[in-house]
Amino acid sequence: MPSNLVIVYHRQPYEEVEVDGKIQYRENKSPNGIVPTLKSFFGRFEKGAWIAWKHADDPNNPDFEQVIEIDDAYGKYTVSRLPLTPEQVTSFYHISSKEAFWPILHGFKERYNYDPVDWPTFREVNWAFAEAAAAEAAPGAVVWVHDYNLWLVPGYLRTLRPDVKISFFHHTPFPAADMFNVLPWRREILESLLACDVVGFHVPRYVNNFVSAARSLLDVETLKRQKVKPELSGQTSALSEQSVVTQIGYDDRIIRLQASPVGVDVDYIEAVSANDVTAAKEAEIREELGDAKLILSVGRTDYTKGGLEQLQSFERLLAARPDLRGKVRLMHVSVAANSNMVAYEEIQHDLEAMAGRINGLYGSFEWQPIALISRPIPFKDLVAYYRVADVAWITPLADGMNLVCKEYCAARTDGDGVVVLSEFAGAAVELAAAVPTNPFSYRSMDTGIEFALGMAEEERRDRMKSMRAMVHKQDVRFWAEDQMYHFEEGALAPEPDA
Ligand code: UDP
Repeated sequence: MPSNLVIVYHRQPYEEVEVDGKIQYRENKSPNGIVPTLKSFFGRFEKGAWIAWKHADDPNNPDFEQVIEIDDAYGKYTVSRLPLTPEQVTSFYHISSKEAFWPILHGFKERYNYDPVDWPTFREVNWAFAEAAAAEAAPGAVVWVHDYNLWLVPGYLRTLRPDVKISFFHHTPFPAADMFNVLPWRREILESLLACDVVGFHVPRYVNNFVSAARSLLDVETLKRQKVKPELSGQTSALSEQSVVTQIGYDDRIIRLQASPVGVDVDYIEAVSANDVTAAKEAEIREELGDAKLILSVGRTDYTKGGLEQLQSFERLLAARPDLRGKVRLMHVSVAANSNMVAYEEIQHDLEAMAGRINGLYGSFEWQPIALISRPIPFKDLVAYYRVADVAWITPLADGMNLVCKEYCAARTDGDGVVVLSEFAGAAVELAAAVPTNPFSYRSMDTGIEFALGMAEEERRDRMKSMRAMVHKQDVRFWAEDQMYHFEEGALAPEPDA
């Protein structure tokens, strides 16, 4: 049966495990990843399908089951798995997406690696995703494509299936024209995105950047510009926008642009927070900590996350404030998500070297200033750390959104805790009561963390109250409703006053 909602996301929507020689499909472990959020949309449509890729040494193997039916907590849905060879995955994902697009999206021209990109393979893989989506979509279905590694899918899909509604969501930042235009495939990428009905981003700044890139290369007309909603006008962030383009015209078509910040599952995080197991874990952490304060930093190992800049700032803090030695600990969780990639291995190595040096310089038998954790912490345990940490120190150099800072606020049902947040995280636009910090400035990094550690309880509670209100209001369900609005027939048709 064809589907009314087809989600095109490169990863499969479950974990595949082999038990007694038989494949079982299990829920992904992290409840806060985007996958469960996307799957929850299936309940709103008559029939759903998901398109992903799956490793296949021989894509022509007749035993490879491409289309399977899943029946899990989210209902029944179809999963179409594209058989990709290890070479295709390396080329399309690790090289084109992670070595060429990722650095440009995050503003790191010097890390951009053009030479190894095999553009025909990138096209071929995107074409295969588009064909699989076209095969699953019912007439007039919504096809929802996710993220930059599938940039060419909308254009291909429009030629295969002119009848479907195509929505695309960017989970990363979108850079300004002079950065985006570094990509030699810029025109092809933009033309594909302009084949969508809706293109979504986390914050207004990314929308405006997208429009500036499109206008720099193509004959794109601005049809509608609106004042940014107060909660998205970013009182803290120097990088906020006051108005945002919401409709553009290209090639006789109207494309809606939306700024819609993804939220976290606050109800779930609050339920975990109220759990006895979490309370026991919290007690354990407090006992280990003694009377020291805990600063918590959680993220993937990536040069965009600002881990090294943070450790350097912490070193300067210990040097400048001998009174804090023995009285404060930094738990720096940096988990490698992309193994086998040299850039990430180097960062990991540098983090280990720096943390080791600082611990050697300032630590003692009883006290280690930095706990560097490279293994993923199960989400439920992470909630216990969130609840104990005096400060969440989140300092990415660039980050599309950053969910950790929102999860921290959601877990603080006690109303205490301080967030120090990089101005370059999308979340900074919403979390106006966080302490803003600029990870490119020593002074801003150093004063930010010192200010947070010394903040009086009343101010901490005032700020947390306001952040919790925002995280509650703009939670993951709010994001889902916003997306649904844009999928609906009326929202996709041209507006009369356009
Ligand atoms: N996370 C986790 N355990 C860890 C580290 C991270 O469960 O040890 C989760 C974290 O709770 C968050 C996600 O990984 O939900 C990271 O999302 P974020 O948007 O902050 O960063 P991304 O990795 O998507 O850039």
